[in-house]
Amino acid sequence: MTSLWPRIEPLLARVQRPARYIGCEEGSRVAPDGPNRVRWLLVYPDAYEIGLPNQGLQILYEILNERLDALAERSYAPWVDMEAQMRGRGVPLFSLDTHRPAAEFDLIAFNLSAELVYTNVLNCLDLAGVAVRAAERGPADPLVGAGGHCTFNPEPLADFVDFFVIGDGEEAVGEVTECVREWKLGGRTPGSRERVLRELAGIPGVYVPAMYEVVYDGCQVAAVTPRYADVPERVEKRTIADLAAWPYPKRQLVPVTEVVHDRLNVEIFRGCTRGCRFCQAGMVTRPVRERPAAQVRQMVADGLGRTGYDEVSLTSLSSADYSGIEGTVAGIVSTGAVGAGIGDPMCTGQSVGGGLAGSSARGGGGGVAVSLPSLRVDAFTVGLAAQIGQVRRTGLTFAPEAGTWRMRQVINKLIREEDLYGAVESAFSQGWQRVKLYFLTGLPTETDEDTLGIAELARRCVAVGRRHSNRVTVTASVGGFVPKPQTPFQWFGQDTVAELGRKVGLLRDATRRERGVNLRWHDPAATLAEGLASRGDRRMGAVIEEVWRRGGTFQEWSEHFNLALWESAMAAHGLSVDDYVHRHRERSELLPWSHVSAGLHEDFLWGDWQDALALAPVEDCRWTPCYDCGACTGYGVEHVVGSALPPAGGSQGTGQDLTSGGSIPVNVSLTSRVRAGVG
Ligand code: SF4
Repeated sequence: MTSLWPRIEPLLARVQRPARYIGCEEGSRVAPDGPNRVRWLLVYPDAYEIGLPNQGLQILYEILNERLDALAERSYAPWVDMEAQMRGRGVPLFSLDTHRPAAEFDLIAFNLSAELVYTNVLNCLDLAGVAVRAAERGPADPLVGAGGHCTFNPEPLADFVDFFVIGDGEEAVGEVTECVREWKLGGRTPGSRERVLRELAGIPGVYVPAMYEVVYDGCQVAAVTPRYADVPERVEKRTIADLAAWPYPKRQLVPVTEVVHDRLNVEIFRGCTRGCRFCQAGMVTRPVRERPAAQVRQMVADGLGRTGYDEVSLTSLSSADYSGIEGTVAGIVSTGAVGAGIGDPMCTGQSVGGGLAGSSARGGGGGVAVSLPSLRVDAFTVGLAAQIGQVRRTGLTFAPEAGTWRMRQVINKLIREEDLYGAVESAFSQGWQRVKLYFLTGLPTETDEDTLGIAELARRCVAVGRRHSNRVTVTASVGGFVPKPQTPFQWFGQDTVAELGRKVGLLRDATRRERGVNLRWHDPAATLAEGLASRGDRRMGAVIEEVWRRGGTFQEWSEHFNLALWESAMAAHGLSVDDYVHRHRERSELLPWSHVSAGLHEDFLWGDWQDALALAPVEDCRWTPCYDCGACTGYGVEHVVGSALPPAGGSQGTGQDLTSGGSIPVNVSLTSRVRAGVG
């Protein structure tokens, strides 16, 4: 493969942020090329500054480059100015590591972390000179793969992606490599592409859409049937049992330009069992698997020493639930390397989990901060806050998610108002001036009283803060709810744009004259497009392609999002927005993603949906008896935690206690991403 750099370099003076296309990050290292190696191009289909920090991509990048039979490079979606330059001069999509053409790799694999990037996937393939439709690719073309949370409903991209890896990728990429290597060494003869796809379909956790026939009955899916007897009827996700066996990334990339989450990130556990019913990430990543504390400390020490970062984030979906979190932080702090501070939203559900922000100066100058996404308020107030010490008190974020106790019972986010006020009081009394609260609107059974409860909660938090300072502000950030596949709410019909807009209007009216309350909201139109892309069946592919062909890229970005493109594409293909997004679904309906399993029994999900309607809580199964959701039993793994005791502040069966206060997950907001249409 030859480098395109001589053709890329002259373009850089003509685009914003040329550093997006240079590579050369500390930590980038590609295995030597050779005929026996399978060449992977790992693509994050969004801008460099969003994709570079992605841990999933960095983990696979290292794992593949450590193998003797593979190499891996990276690419990110070129921003629109660079794309225009590339198309104008016939420069194809290239890798960042060696600037080689994407089409010369054996595999192009996308990380799918958000559905509104789907049109960027098509754009990247087209820029690579690869046919966007899988059926039109020949033996000389790369295989196109995808992984990430969005693949738990792979159908909207089924026409474009050759294979999906469902669940954890650490082990599966090795098996895919071996399969593709044989195909490559065999000369990729005519007809061999179909054979290698069939072999890939036999790898546990790998879904090959071309191996399945889909039959429709009106707006519903009537059947999804394997085309061959050796292709599984249902693809079960991959789950790595022992996170300690995968201490990656060992060499986190250090970008040469500003990116989001620009700090050392160390994953302390995977999975979440708090049971928030709206949260797809929490549902599909069960069970909990903790990394041993000693390994966490080692990764932190090694990473800080190598990168020169002055901040480390201990990442997970709910970091305060890490057993012995305080001891781990204390251990890190006591090494003398770091003080303590706060992190950014890492809860990857519909909205972030909440947060706690700050950083400490060691010895009065230039220390290192620890970010702790998803702290619980109890941990904050009585333990970790004490360690934070001299803190730079920036923003502090909590995620009650709903404005009333009734609504929070429905979604199983069992935060009492008094707990929230206690957390806010604690923060304001320690000098914080700004608090951010995350909410969802459009949740199942939501009434106007529930919606207005958001404004009331924010108003009361300001009142609490006023006891300490007249300058405190509370920002209520409201996102529209999308009922995601593989969650208990998957049968629920999403609110219309008009209804979400009306609810936002209620909140605007209610907060207009409230001094100290700021309201921000996610564009309801973007919520609709997210619903289409995340809940659709295979027919949604034509819509995604139409949106892309009409220029709809970077739909995650408010300046590029265009709902009219989505609506006209739906109409052009005879599909009803109502049927796909707003319709409540019956239990008997075959859901478009039914042949892909996150390990959760449908009985469990349906029962939890009924419990939601009955306001019945489900406690954290790490500390309570198993509900037999299927995530452990089906995969022969169990929750792996470092302690037999619940974390500080939790108690047996009261991780989210209904009666004794419970806990509030909190995160820190340092997100610099521009989400579509935030008002
Ligand atoms: S199988 Fe039981 S213990 Fe495991 S995640 Fe599901 S409910 Fe929890």
